[in-house]
Amino acid sequence: MTKYIKTIWLEIHVRIKSKTKMFCSCTNAVALAEEPNMNVCPVCMWFPGMLPALNKEVVRLWMIGWMMMWCEINKLSRFDRKTYFYPDNPTAYQITQLYEPIVWKGSVKVIVEDQVREFAIHHMHLENDAWKLVHAGGKTLCDFNRAGSPLMEIVTDPVFHEKEEVMEFLKELQKLMRAAWVSDADMEKWQMRCDVNISVALEWAKEWWNRTETKNVNSFSAIWRVIDHESKRQIKIVEAGWVVDQETRWWDDDSGTSRTQRSKEDAMDYRYFPEPDLLPLVLDDAFIAEARATLPELPIEKRLRYLNEYKLSADDARILTVTRELSEYFDELVRLTGDAKKSCSYVTTILLAMINESDEINSVEELKFDIKELARVIELVNKDELSSTNSKQVIEELFINWGEADIIVDENNLRQKNDTWALELIVDEVITTNSKQVEEYKAGNVNIFWFLVGQCMKASKWQWNPKIFNELLKKKLW
Ligand SMILES: [Zn+2]
Repeated sequence: MTKYIKTIWLEIHVRIKSKTKMFCSCTNAVALAEEPNMNVCPVCMWFPGMLPALNKEVVRLWMIGWMMMWCEINKLSRFDRKTYFYPDNPTAYQITQLYEPIVWKGSVKVIVEDQVREFAIHHMHLENDAWKLVHAGGKTLCDFNRAGSPLMEIVTDPVFHEKEEVMEFLKELQKLMRAAWVSDADMEKWQMRCDVNISVALEWAKEWWNRTETKNVNSFSAIWRVIDHESKRQIKIVEAGWVVDQETRWWDDDSGTSRTQRSKEDAMDYRYFPEPDLLPLVLDDAFIAEARATLPELPIEKRLRYLNEYKLSADDARILTVTRELSEYFDELVRLTGDAKKSCSYVTTILLAMINESDEINSVEELKFDIKELARVIELVNKDELSSTNSKQVIEELFINWGEADIIVDENNLRQKNDTWALELIVDEVITTNSKQVEEYKAGNVNIFWFLVGQCMKASKWQWNPKIFNELLKKKLW
């Protein structure tokens, strides 16, 4: 069977979450805006004669973003004007960077199928977003809320060959942006979107066929399907004896297909020229050093630390590093308990499940109880003063009504007693009342043992430690 190799590279737009827009003091539309045209002014509506003034905070966040990707910085960069006509852009140009972007090459480390891999970034630049067109009632309306919102465009090298690599890369990029508080990079909220370039070639061939660029890909699942769909489409064309057109395609997520948007022949001439309204951007060493000082630990470094030092599973390490806040919460819990494994299991299986089900609390930052109380619950379990079954009840109570773990344990009579004499009485009672089962056990049916432990727990109203019943029963039935 003929073997094909896919080559993929990405152009990713990330919306920076600065407080104000790129060139004016209007509130930046980080999330989807509440009402149209609320956060606008003559500058971001591009009224004639208005001049843009570059927002320092945008540059700072942007620098932190590229530092997380190990990019080379250009202390001197310039803005360019990209000319195009489209109804979402009444000025007919966009301010971007082409010839001297602020950073060049960088890389992102990613874990793909348990292997650490490094994928190269070709370059990154800063540009402003266009406005949004809303089609309603046979009319098209303009919403300027996101006009002038700062975007970071990240262009990778042609380094991906499998969709798994692309997915892990994008997830890592999302984590980097979130960890550095540069962007929430939520694809559903249009904070991150992606154009996917694909070219397929025969495995032994030295050259690719023409490439296509698929635009409008706004979810992880859509990217997955685009790669499948487009590589199959290209293979089909070549196997039929045709040539793949170099073109821009538009993805329709509802039908799961793409269509030609623009072919190479009518490729746009953007007529780039230096932006006359902005001075070159010069970054001084102190400003760069200040930004560097705020860098958090890279999510992948955290993940490797969890795997290698804490011996957590790959899945748990991945889940705990989804957001910086979650990993910092987990780190603090480990610091308090000294027990990474148990801290991990309490966070991933109990706490995150409760957050998932809750309408009010959506993340660990919103938890109302002190983290010390969760640490105390784990300590009580480790000391056998609280059963792991009952610990869930205590955490539920903390989750809803806050308070202190010890008080909840005592008020609900959950503290396990380890009084051997009282326990022996219970064990004797269970042995007497279940004589038939005891005989079966002695005859070799070992599973009965757990039934007897259960009977002891029941008789003790679940207040005692099952480990002790286990030992006492073994001793008495020997
Ligand atoms: Zn404005």
